[in-house]
Amino acid sequence: MPVPRADDYHSFERKIDQWRIRKKDSSERKSYDEVFDRQNLMVIYKLLSDGYFDRLDFPISTGKEGNVFRASTKNNELVAVKVYRTATSTFRDMAKYIHGDPRFAGLNNRKRKLIYAWANKEFLNLKALHWAGVRVPKPIAQQRNVVVMEYIGDEVEPARELRSVRLDNPEEVANKILAYIRLAYKKAKLIHSDISEYNVLMFNGEPVIIDVGQAVLLDHPHSQEWLERDVGNVARYFRKYDLEIDVKKELEGIRGK
Ligand code: ADP
Ligand code: MN
Repeated sequence: MPVPRADDYHSFERKIDQWRIRKKDSSERKSYDEVFDRQNLMVIYKLLSDGYFDRLDFPISTGKEGNVFRASTKNNELVAVKVYRTATSTFRDMAKYIHGDPRFAGLNNRKRKLIYAWANKEFLNLKALHWAGVRVPKPIAQQRNVVVMEYIGDEVEPARELRSVRLDNPEEVANKILAYIRLAYKKAKLIHSDISEYNVLMFNGEPVIIDVGQAVLLDHPHSQEWLERDVGNVARYFRKYDLEIDVKKELEGIRGK
């Protein structure tokens, strides 16, 4: 990754400081401070200068593994930016004791590389699923621990998770999710492995599958078990709409011709 020119980088840092100051809410502040350590700033700077986005608008979600931001391009198009966490607070404390000890040289790097690989996996899985026709956010770019993808939502708010929406057409939505699981299996040879009401967004009445970093190929030793869990989760969730989903029959449909 090229090192930015000092002038450019300093003006970028000033921009970040402005974002920080604008965010008064303490939880927003926390996620900004966590994300904007020096190494993450460099990655965000690179994506910014490559034109993938022009400014971060606000955090949509601050999860355990990372933060998702809404961002805007120069043409005011919206994108989603998922930043995987490379240092938790406990890890930062650990680093203080490990850093400088030659026995542990490279630990920091190893951990970072694992997270880059994870972000890359999410990007590749998004590509494969999108190609196969599964409704996922369209992948746009990935750099180290950051993934840029299509933003699901409108100007006012990001799309809601399935769990916080009251569906008028639960059967239709359940069938679409099951059809996506089948399409992922048949065409992309992938099993999501974390399908739940948290990882399906509802946008304009249509389900959108997200959070695909952990999706595995069919030849993974646990793939069939995780497929059963995914279909089981769909069946469990839609029971609250009094929908009876026959898991065994669905699995036959997914695995069969
Ligand atoms: P994790 O669960 O690992 O924190 P997710 O990919 O599930 O990461 O994202 C967390 C939350 O951020 C989602 O539940 C959703 O509300 C929001 N989100 C993620 N991706 C997008 C996107 N492309 N567009 C809009 N909102 C998103
Ligand atoms: Mn999730």
